[in-house]
Amino acid sequence: MFKSGSAPLARPAILPDTSNRSGLPAFASVGDVLRAYEGDDAIFVLYPKKIAAAARTFLNGFPGKVLYAVKANPHPAVLKTLWTSGVRNFDVASTREVDLVQSVVPGAKLFFMHPVKSRAAIRHAYECGVRDFSFDSADELQKMLEVTGYASDLTLHLRVALPKGGAAMPLSGKFGADRDQAVELLGEARRHAFKLGVTFHVGSQCLEISDYDMALAYVRSIVDASGVEIDSIDCGGGFPVPYPGMSPRPMGEYFSAIRSSLSAHGFAGLQVLGEPGRALCAQGGSTLARVELRKGGDLYLNDGSYGSLFDAAQCAWKFPVKLHTVEPRDQGETEAFRFFGPTCDSLDVMNGPFELPADVQEGDWVEICHLGAYGQALSSRFNGFYSETTVAVMA
Ligand SMILES: *Cc1c(COP(=O)(O)O)cnc(C)c1O
Repeated sequence: MFKSGSAPLARPAILPDTSNRSGLPAFASVGDVLRAYEGDDAIFVLYPKKIAAAARTFLNGFPGKVLYAVKANPHPAVLKTLWTSGVRNFDVASTREVDLVQSVVPGAKLFFMHPVKSRAAIRHAYECGVRDFSFDSADELQKMLEVTGYASDLTLHLRVALPKGGAAMPLSGKFGADRDQAVELLGEARRHAFKLGVTFHVGSQCLEISDYDMALAYVRSIVDASGVEIDSIDCGGGFPVPYPGMSPRPMGEYFSAIRSSLSAHGFAGLQVLGEPGRALCAQGGSTLARVELRKGGDLYLNDGSYGSLFDAAQCAWKFPVKLHTVEPRDQGETEAFRFFGPTCDSLDVMNGPFELPADVQEGDWVEICHLGAYGQALSSRFNGFYSETTVAVMA
């Protein structure tokens, strides 16, 4: 896929960079990637240093154990980069995620935090040594107990549904016990669990720090009503990143607010967990999509809503964009563009608007940033358009 590092490049395109432990071909810059690329598809870029920096922010600041929510980006290079940065715990939701994490980072501790699992998935995970599972119903609790032969070493995490808060993507519509069920399920699970916890998700891309406090206050009232003791509290994910048009508060403010809420609501002595997905890897990944055709303000790209741009199309989210030209050119005034993806489906449109230099033309590359979470991970093979090329850029 890449030219070897000979002329006309002044230095090898593929860096022997020892700080890159991702296992990917590594380049110093996006320009180097494009000059060396000989393929015809979009290119997924990972920035391992940015992923490592996000991991350090959480490991140093979050007041508890950091579990990476694997669904945000399961690429082995992301898992390895997080592991080398010190992340030891992974939140998985399927048999394939269990197997993937175990094969890529064999020392990892896995938490199976999907509240609806097949019996085969529970059995396989338990055989693989997983002991932490979530549930939100009596039937799922029963299923886990039956499949594990009423194991006495289970850590059970009750997922509660939250009243709607300020997240861009609410996640309590599908999973989570309501208040009355939660009170009853805590009592029921306490009789079987080695350790018992409560877990929630405030919704992804949560822009209201106070949602975590509301959630913790709500959990407190449920635990009190149940009359049982719990051992852990899992604050879920939801930590936001700065997409254009959104201005989240710095992560440190989230952490200190959560720390104060934990003690205000009497959870200070418990094991605390968090499950960031987006915040660990969104800014550590981007997509390089080539302009195949320009029609006025419409750019036809080789990646789209069936590739890594699902959220740009379906949620009308904006993403930071940059123009890269293979031959250097002065980039002047900008103009608003709309993107079309490569498939023949009319849903394959990203309205943006995306601001790019007005002289963008066929053969230029658009870098669409912040796609390291829920971007690359969502790509399908629809219509024969997809990318199998992921590179590391060591910037
Ligand atoms: C998706 C998900 C996460 C990660 O959420 P982010 O908003 O990406 O941080 C964490 N926990 C569970 C149970 C999830 O489903």
